[in-house]
Amino acid sequence: MAVSDWAPKSIPFNAPAIEGDEMAYLEAAVRDGHISAKGPFTAKVVELLRQQIGGAEVLLTTSCTAALELAAMLLDIEPGDTVIVPSFTFVTTAMAFVREGAQLLFADIEPDTLGLDPNHVRELLDDSVRAVVPVHYAGVGCDLTGIRSELAGRSGRRGIDLIEDNAHGLFGRYQGNPLGSFGRMSTLSFHETKNFSCGEGGALVLNRSSDVERAHVLYDKGTNRRAFEGGRVDEYSWIDRGSSFGLADLLAAYLLAQLEAQEAVLSKRRAISGCYRELLEPHTERLGLRLPAVPADRVQAYHMFYVLLPDRASRDRALRKLNADGIMATTHYVPLHSSLMGSKVAARMTECPVTTEMSGRLLRLPFFNGLDLATVAAIVDRLVAAVEASP
Ligand SMILES: *Cc1c(COP(=O)(O)O)cnc(C)c1O
Repeated sequence: MAVSDWAPKSIPFNAPAIEGDEMAYLEAAVRDGHISAKGPFTAKVVELLRQQIGGAEVLLTTSCTAALELAAMLLDIEPGDTVIVPSFTFVTTAMAFVREGAQLLFADIEPDTLGLDPNHVRELLDDSVRAVVPVHYAGVGCDLTGIRSELAGRSGRRGIDLIEDNAHGLFGRYQGNPLGSFGRMSTLSFHETKNFSCGEGGALVLNRSSDVERAHVLYDKGTNRRAFEGGRVDEYSWIDRGSSFGLADLLAAYLLAQLEAQEAVLSKRRAISGCYRELLEPHTERLGLRLPAVPADRVQAYHMFYVLLPDRASRDRALRKLNADGIMATTHYVPLHSSLMGSKVAARMTECPVTTEMSGRLLRLPFFNGLDLATVAAIVDRLVAAVEASP
């Protein structure tokens, strides 16, 4: 579609889509009469996720934030403990650990994948570190080999755990293995903006069987209800800390239908991503654009499509022009290390220059299952025109 064919209409950044049996499953959940947590649809989602990711157990939670909070509780953070998180991430990757009393060490990202930089992790590692929390940005695995080799042989005061915030990376792979299967635990998001959604939802994947029993206690309001249900105690009572983390089975029903459409969803997103890439590629050199890098040993999860512009000024200009055309492109994370709260909860100041630079240059383009390729072409035309136009 040429620019001249463009008929102005608003193109959202994201739009939720029904992909299969969502409505039928919702109705079935209500009819079956179990709509709270841990119902039959939850069991099916857990089975599906365990088949795909592996892990000793999967707990469906009310959000990825809740899953991160549950992960942080399982670490038994003590005063003086620190957690290494990328500065370039969503707030709750960091906040979940702060709520448990940890201080943070903000690490920089690599310029190619925008994932946690193992070299900066090495510089930050000291005896205070209790956990490292990488994010697989845009669904492209970060350098897990590099990060794991930095952690190898280092134990800190009480062990250093890897916890993957895999909110973007469901069904992505790193060197043949599923994202989310590398850490002691990993988290997923089923928020409206993610690839597979039930409005609000998440999951904690436990890759260590020794975590399963206690995780269920914290998950179930600090009670040993699971032991009771398994006939191992006569009545259940309050035995630990915890909260109400469980996802309603009503939402698990919706989510199951989304996950069962895995192939259809991923192929639509792969096509959109491929189309953006193919149409933008011829302009990259001339306009100084950079497209997302996907190293050869990784399978991406197609969570988003972003473009890096030459600098913040050109990014802001392109963003304003696209938005004025009704194309709801958007920026992404404001670096946490320089945020008001980030500076209060950092164990010490750290420098994350790549984060600051990429945050200023990054533009996310509309990306959702129902985005048709003609519209992708129109968005690319508009973006190219916006970057070409002089300030
Ligand atoms: C979306 C997201 C979260 C939070 O997910 P919720 O389900 O909305 O709590 C956490 N981390 C990352 C990297 C995310 O993209």
